[in-house]
Amino acid sequence: MTEEFFRIAVVGTGPAGLYAADELVQQDRIPVRVDLIDRLCTPFGLVRYGVAPDHPRIKSVTGALSTILEHPLVRFLGGVELGSDIGRSDLLACYDAVVYATGLAADRPLGVPGEELPGSHSARELVSWYSGHPDAAQPFSLDAERVAVVGAGNVALDVARILTKPAAALSYTDMPEPVLAALRASAVREVTVIARRGPEHTRFTTKELRELDTLDGVSIRVPADETLPASDTVAERSVRANLALFEKWSGVPAGERTITFRFWRRPIEIRGEKAVRELVLEHTALDDTGQLVATGGTETLPVGVVLRSVGYHGMPIAGLPFDRSRGVVRQHAGRIVDEEGRACSGEYVAGWLKRGPSGVIGTNRADSADTIAALLDDLSTSGGPRAVRSLDDLLARNGSRPVPLSGWRAIDSREIALGAEAGRDRIKITDWSVLRTLGAHEAPTPVVSNYGRE
Ligand code: NAP
Repeated sequence: MTEEFFRIAVVGTGPAGLYAADELVQQDRIPVRVDLIDRLCTPFGLVRYGVAPDHPRIKSVTGALSTILEHPLVRFLGGVELGSDIGRSDLLACYDAVVYATGLAADRPLGVPGEELPGSHSARELVSWYSGHPDAAQPFSLDAERVAVVGAGNVALDVARILTKPAAALSYTDMPEPVLAALRASAVREVTVIARRGPEHTRFTTKELRELDTLDGVSIRVPADETLPASDTVAERSVRANLALFEKWSGVPAGERTITFRFWRRPIEIRGEKAVRELVLEHTALDDTGQLVATGGTETLPVGVVLRSVGYHGMPIAGLPFDRSRGVVRQHAGRIVDEEGRACSGEYVAGWLKRGPSGVIGTNRADSADTIAALLDDLSTSGGPRAVRSLDDLLARNGSRPVPLSGWRAIDSREIALGAEAGRDRIKITDWSVLRTLGAHEAPTPVVSNYGRE
């Protein structure tokens, strides 16, 4: 007798998707097979294309995540895009349940005039470029001496650090060679990080803020005209530690390369004839009700590049209920729900697409576990597997050739070999056609014959 099992698709192979797959294969309530589907030829999502290249310790989580990919009940299907190669209805026909863990692919806009000028970018665009993402715009121009980064979160710190750190200190990373060459030739001398609220309200984690002090030849400064609350008057430990750093940096003069922090300011216009020339900021304060308000003062910052680092936003997935204001999929305990709160049968969400852009990599472990607990409750009372179609057949009919795990291994080996030639651990391959060619070196193992109901 053929064993019956539930077929589950997890779309997105960042930490949220991989932890969801792990939760599925580590449980023994129901038998499952898991297909991990990604539009990229490579797994790991933001660990590969978001975690800064000079944070190898954080990136090393790929070791643990790889063991999930290697699990015998899991298949990797790279280079398969939801929306173009397959649709939501295909997934629902081919699987008993679908977990969407595709993250947040869009940027929050600032909503100010001039945002579309050349030289105005999202931090995500810069991060994608230096991380070697195959969709990144090439090359990123670093001709400007002054750069403004709007936003006071860890992504702002990442981009400020990468733009000021001596390129020699990045030459061991997995950055593509053209990126390193551009950073070597970079004209950037000062990066100003702009927070719309006070130093006590920033979202920087202390570890990442403190790291700035270790940058060779980079002055970290808070101009002397900034008012800093005394750190010993603040109860929260992490805020106290951040304030102590800002106090230490208060009044430090600018150097050869400088990161400057500015508080209580928000952009109202980006100006320039053909490209960004200056950023107009208005001064802000909190009113009696805690609302952020303009105080009437403005100032102009001469800059050649403006980077928006004000958070990420989801892109609606055709047909899935979407909360446009929060930029996430509507859900309750991981079950996707419509506007009336009714569950969309068989559809679940995990990671940033579920909770918004918050937390560290490990946060996704518990988040995905909650989603999978709901999924298992539903499937264990569902009366058995019901999926009737095969994704393999569907992809074959469309002429799509997914990149299997062995294809990812081929890409991985080539990147490691390229790195070894240059005395580095890895150099990323950025070209779609090279990734596809390397990844297509073997067809994925068809599992269609394993399906009990076919
Ligand atoms: P974030 O931590 O949410 O910070 C966003 C910043 O943008 C906040 O300072 C916010 O100010 C500001 N902001 C939002 N809208 C604005 C507007 N219209 N004008 C001006 N400022 C605006 O986001 P993130 O930096 O993108 O980070 C996302 C997540 O990834 C976070 O959980 C972060 O910790 C994590 N991450 C971690 C690391 C690491 O651990 N090494 C590295 C990178 C990212 P308000 O506070 O006033 O809203």
